[in-house]
Amino acid sequence: MSASDACQCNRSRRKFITTAAAFSLMSSAGWAAQMNARGDAALTKAQRDGMTPEQILDELKKGNERFRSGKPTPHDYRDQKRTSAAGQYPAVAFLGCIDSRAPAEIIFDTGIGDGFNARVAGNVGNDDISGSLEFACAVAGAKVIVLFGHTACGAIKGAIDDVEMGNLTGLLARIKPAITATKFTGDKSSKNAAYVDAVARQNVLVGLNVLRQRSSILADLEKKKSLLLTGAMYDLTTGGVEFVG
Ligand SMILES: [Zn+2]
Repeated sequence: MSASDACQCNRSRRKFITTAAAFSLMSSAGWAAQMNARGDAALTKAQRDGMTPEQILDELKKGNERFRSGKPTPHDYRDQKRTSAAGQYPAVAFLGCIDSRAPAEIIFDTGIGDGFNARVAGNVGNDDISGSLEFACAVAGAKVIVLFGHTACGAIKGAIDDVEMGNLTGLLARIKPAITATKFTGDKSSKNAAYVDAVARQNVLVGLNVLRQRSSILADLEKKKSLLLTGAMYDLTTGGVEFVG
């Protein structure tokens, strides 16, 4: 352990990483008492490696609850930057929409160094996204992929409306299979919020399968249970995340 690592070990830590250290060092009855962190350091390799995918997912759920309830961790981004500059050990990789209202780091209350974040309109997969996630998980060691859509998604509305515009036409075509697969009774138009959200949810499920089909690397990691691949829907109104798929 280097001097700087030792220094980091003496610092108070934020909830995400405190739990990681707690799981590796303490009994299940004791670790909860340690969760008084301040958001002032990035994940270390030992902390990330000490968590199972299920424990990481649980921390993400807790992080969203902190965000949703208006009690996010007071992140010290300068310290997180400082402690992650020499190396990164993210626990999660997000695939979300570019929508300005759905920033993964904020809605899951994670900090610098906690997670990779791939964003594309409609959170659709393609070979470049698959390659990015393969790097995140197979090379850099992230153990969870969260593919999440959100309510009132403009890309979903555009796909429903058959919008054609430049390169957007091809992107929206990737959402069409989700429209076809959505079972919905009622007005199937982009004016119907319930229908738009139903398609967005289906699009997440389709996206998970696309990731698995396009990447034998990710599929194999998932089969070995060293990677947890999950979908989610983010509600722009409530701030809550519902995990699906
Ligand atoms: Zn969107």
